[in-house]
Amino acid sequence: MFELNLDSNILDNKTSLDENKIYDILIVGAGPAGLNSALYGKRNGLDVGLIAKQIGGQVMDTSSVDNYLGYDSMSGESLTKVFKDHVTSYDIPIKIEYNLEKIEKKDNLFYHYLSDGSVFKSKTFIIATGSKPRKLNVSGEDDYVGKGVAYCAICDGPLYKDKVVAVVGGGNAAVEAALDLSKIAKKVVIIQRSEIKAEQILIDKLYAKENVTLMLDSQVKEIYGDTLVKGLKLYNTKKTKQLDLKVDGVFVQIGSIPNSDPFKSIVKTLRTGEIEIDSFCNTSEKGVFAAGDVTNVPYKQISIASGEGAKAALSASAYINKLDK
Ligand SMILES: Cc1cc2nc3c(=O)[nH]c(=O)nc-3n(C[C@H](O)[C@H](O)[C@H](O)COP(=O)(O)OP(=O)(O)OC[C@H]3O[C@@H](n4cnc5c(N)ncnc54)[C@H](O)[C@@H]3O)c2cc1C
Repeated sequence: MFELNLDSNILDNKTSLDENKIYDILIVGAGPAGLNSALYGKRNGLDVGLIAKQIGGQVMDTSSVDNYLGYDSMSGESLTKVFKDHVTSYDIPIKIEYNLEKIEKKDNLFYHYLSDGSVFKSKTFIIATGSKPRKLNVSGEDDYVGKGVAYCAICDGPLYKDKVVAVVGGGNAAVEAALDLSKIAKKVVIIQRSEIKAEQILIDKLYAKENVTLMLDSQVKEIYGDTLVKGLKLYNTKKTKQLDLKVDGVFVQIGSIPNSDPFKSIVKTLRTGEIEIDSFCNTSEKGVFAAGDVTNVPYKQISIASGEGAKAALSASAYINKLDK
């Protein structure tokens, strides 16, 4: 059993970022993408530093991770500790607790401005700031996260074998989640406040499923339960009627918000807010790389974010090699 004490673990790592130094790579974000970038960058002999509001990112919000290769099942906190211990076994300076607020490029260097007033410099940098799930913001949602409220069908779907679940949302992500869940759960109810807006091929597949029901023109007003979720209070806007739906779980699939705001002046972002990258994790700005959930890479998962982090560091390293010639 692991015990994670973030404060003591961070203090164990005696090194801290130096404002007078020019780093080869600064990595912003210490979720799976940022931590793996740091590991790969350092092992490639580069001067690497990490800036992060918090170590672990969304993994710290995950009650149980059951799909990371090599570990049957682990709490998000324990997996974070495994990642962090590996990274801090190398001498990688970390600045935590503060947000990066702004980036500026001057004389071919990147200046990183943090919320505590500190400023750090680097030749390249990797954006690994992840995202946050868009919430319904209804009563009970926060209370039942991990107890029936979920944001990732790939991750938590298997926990609902032969149960009744609701999927909230009507875009591609919601319909794909419902299709995946229909293979596991006894019954899936899609709740959407207007109509389904997914691709037709997905909608056709959905209609072919006997255990999927649609509740359109419906809004979730409350998620209730005891120790676990027991049901939802809904409001049908067409019939102007309140409804009660008994469910064992609810998957909120109304999108995610990439943490890309501080970088929008320097790299190209898409309408979704995701940073556009190519298959080498290059962004639109030379010397700036991005990895993980903050990018347009498909499938937001821990293994994918960490793999992308490795790729971004190797691309940054190749870029530095050319600079140094
Ligand atoms: C509830 C939940 C359960 C999940 N369960 C699973 C699962 O079981 N299996 C699975 O594979 N995936 C799961 N996921 C998805 C997985 O957690 C993400 O795909 C993964 O964490 C993305 O990694 P990342 O490094 O790109 O970003 P994140 O994990 O989001 O990390 C972002 C990092 O950036 C930092 N940061 C953000 N903005 C700033 C800023 N301005 N300045 C400084 N630092 C900043 C944060 O503090 C953090 O360190 C789950 C997600 C959620 C929300």
